[in-house]
Amino acid sequence: MAHDAEQLPAWLTWQRRPFPDANLLLVHGRRPALIDSGFVGHAEETAAWLRARTGHLNLVVNTHWHSDHVGGNARLQAAGAGIAASAPDAAALGRRDPGCCQAEYLDQPVAPYTVDEPLHDEQLLRLGDADWQVIRTPGHTPGHLSIWQPDERILVVGDALSDYDVGWVNLALDGPDAGATALASLHRLVNLAPRVLLPAHGPIPADPGAAMATAVRRARRLVDDPTSAVWYGARRILAFALMIRDGIPADEIEPYLHARTWLTDAANLLGRTPETLAAELIDTMLRSGAIILRDRRLYAAAEYTPVAARPPIPFPRTWPDATPVMSDGGSKPEQTA
Ligand SMILES: [Zn+2]
Repeated sequence: MAHDAEQLPAWLTWQRRPFPDANLLLVHGRRPALIDSGFVGHAEETAAWLRARTGHLNLVVNTHWHSDHVGGNARLQAAGAGIAASAPDAAALGRRDPGCCQAEYLDQPVAPYTVDEPLHDEQLLRLGDADWQVIRTPGHTPGHLSIWQPDERILVVGDALSDYDVGWVNLALDGPDAGATALASLHRLVNLAPRVLLPAHGPIPADPGAAMATAVRRARRLVDDPTSAVWYGARRILAFALMIRDGIPADEIEPYLHARTWLTDAANLLGRTPETLAAELIDTMLRSGAIILRDRRLYAAAEYTPVAARPPIPFPRTWPDATPVMSDGGSKPEQTA
């Protein structure tokens, strides 16, 4: 939308990106920083976008660790940028927890990276030439955070909400209260009364208050109707799987789904077998138009940027150990859970 960038000060560059990439936000100034780094299959494009706009990137801040937000981290870290992420995500990444990034669980590749700067709730963070405040907003993931610039009243919300929806929650991984947690986080964001809302997907909402009211309404539905929350998550995960593979052959989709932990978990919560849920999921998404069948291949209907075929990227359980960050004393910094 043409008017999007006009709401932003000149020291911010925002770039809308289709799936499977999160939108980009570059903060210019003495400490140039990027908030979220896209999908690993587009890391070179992300690096080129940055090269054209800033000489030196100091820091990447991740709103959370899903693959569409941290995929450029390894590439940018190798070029000298530090990585900042929420303290819980930083701790898990530091010990190479197999659940990191939910990469294996969701079957989404992430290139190995380490966190240099764990972020805590309400801490101030210098990005560009301004102080931003870290706001922990668990729900979509337990480690999710938002970033608030109080002078400009700009709120970066990651996947907590978008112009049209609330972020999906994972009741199987994060428990039955995940919807209530997401709703509480939204209320915290509503109370900030932002002038500009910057979601990680889709456009900048023309009316931040209306976007937040819609998100709150939809989050209440996740709380009141856990079944719909499970379905919502399953639809989003399958659509993403189809995007990063540029479609899956129709005769391979059911075996693919049967082998996924997320699908088995969802089937358990819904009281179905994985086989029944897989068939029902494909059927409902075909009928709603969310996925389409073309030349015996299933594709996501939403706009996305295809990813070139690449060598497989190992899941976090086999990542090399996190490189210790050398502090002044040369010792490994404390990371707390
Ligand atoms: Zn996400």
